[in-house]
Parts: sequence; C-alpha cells; structure tokens
Amino acid sequence: MTNSSDILFNQPVIIEACEEFVQRDMLELRGSFPGLLQDAPMSSTAVVNGLSQQLIYQLQLMMPDAFVSFDDLNVDLLDAAFPYVQTSAKEGLHRAIQDRGQTIQVNSAYRTIAQQMLLYNDRFNNSNPVAPPGTSNHQTGLAIDIEDAIGWESYLMQYGWQPLAGDPPHFDYIGDGTIDLRSNSILAFQQLWNLNNPDSQIGEDGGFGPQTEDALNRSPAQGFAKAPWDDNPRTLRLAMPRMEGSDVIKLQEALNKAGVVVGADGEFGPGTDTAVKEFQQKKGLKPDGIVALKTREQMA
Ligand SMILES: [Zn+2]
Repeated sequence: MTNSSDILFNQPVIIEACEEFVQRDMLELRGSFPGLLQDAPMSSTAVVNGLSQQLIYQLQLMMPDAFVSFDDLNVDLLDAAFPYVQTSAKEGLHRAIQDRGQTIQVNSAYRTIAQQMLLYNDRFNNSNPVAPPGTSNHQTGLAIDIEDAIGWESYLMQYGWQPLAGDPPHFDYIGDGTIDLRSNSILAFQQLWNLNNPDSQIGEDGGFGPQTEDALNRSPAQGFAKAPWDDNPRTLRLAMPRMEGSDVIKLQEALNKAGVVVGADGEFGPGTDTAVKEFQQKKGLKPDGIVALKTREQMA
C-alpha cells in the first residue's frame, strides 16, 4: 500500500499539460481510428477509445476494487473522459459536489496509457512538459481536470483534492486510503499485448520501457482482436465515453436476431439503449437498458 502523498513526495511534480488534453478533447469526436495508435490523428484522445476501454477492463479484472465510476454523481463529462477514480477520491468529489450544490464539468479523469501515449508522441509540439505514459496521476485514478477550477477550488480542497501549480484545470487527490495503480495500468497493457501477440512477447514488468512504448505505438487504436471481455463479459450500458467493441457488436447482432432492429456499428449509443429496453420488456425483465447477466442469459 502506498499512500498517494508518497507519490507526490518521492517523485518530481510533473506539470501535466492537461490544458492541452482538454483542448483536444473538446472536439465532439466519437469512434476509434481504424489503424495503429502511432498513425492516429492527434485530434482527440477519443481516437483510441476502443483500445482504452480494453485497457480499463483488463485493469478492472486484475484489480476489481481499485477504482470506481463516478458517472452517477452530479457531473458533466467530456466525450473522451473516463469517469474513474479510486473509492476515497470519489467520496471526496461527491462531498465537494454536495457542498456546492452544482454540476461539475469533468474534462479528464482516468486516462489510459494509450491516451497518454498520443500526447507524449506529440510532446515536441507542446509548450508544456508532457508526462510519459504511466507516470501521470491520471493513470492511477487520483486526478481530475475540470472547468471552473477557481470556483471549485475551496470545495475540493476541503475533501482531499489539491490544485496543481502551473496546470490550472488539474486537481490531485492526496487524501488517505489510496494505492498507486500506475504500474498496474502498464501491466494491463503488457498482458493484453502478449495475449494478442504470441510471436512478439514483451516483458510483463509494469514498467514503461522502449519495448512497451514500441508495442503500444503498434497497437490497434480500436482495440485488440482478443479482448478481455471475451472470457469475462463486461456490463454494457449507455455511458460516456460510449462503450464500443466486439462485445457491443455481438449484442447488437443478438438484438437483431431476437427481432429488435438496431444498427450493428459496435457503439452503444441511444439507439442500442432503446433496443435493449425493448428486448428486456419483451422478455419480462426490468427495462433498464443495462446488459448484465440476466439480460445476457435471455439472449443465448
Ligand atoms: Zn490533469
């Protein structure tokens, strides 16, 4: 167990260049780039959404209680912002939102190493230093970038969230009860890569060296052919960022087979949400649009 304040003491504070991220991700761009990460346009980190979702799910399978979604709080999320932080950090965020009684706009929270790689590749075009993949507090579920940072500062600081000098939208959670997940974020990628590249294995050491950097750059932005949800289905629902992947395509195909017509584009959007609810109603299930075990069983 490492307390997050240890991270801040032991490592040089990196100016995270989060403003740069936020600017890119302001574009309302959806759907991953159909090619390798290294060839993806630097328009928005949404171009690696497919790969990012696989990395997040692989990490969740590895450490089921490590971080939680906060999209059930009073938040507005940017398209490419994965709403995950560690449990105690979510509690602090929850209290700050309750105290102020307003919606908080979150532009970035958990950031996958695929997203970080995009910005790192472009670091020479950036006026701020860019943290290499695996070193950012965004990769351990202890950082958020928000709008109206000045307005939120006093509320967040009461509950363990601290602003980062030189990076106005960025806050780090420095409260108790946290762990350092950054090497696990890298390990999740190394495992996925090895699962999909039996002839070109890399070390599963949780470190970001040249071999891992090269592999990450040569990874498909839409995600690998063998996904972590192949053996352990993930719960599918309407979410931000939109869930996408082979499991969503399978769901859409199953819906069509069951007579509920929906486009099989591999993205869980409002149309798929409506179709799932219709299917659930037909089967006498609660029409909540959430595809978990019960709904899945009815599709077999
Ligand atoms: Zn940040």
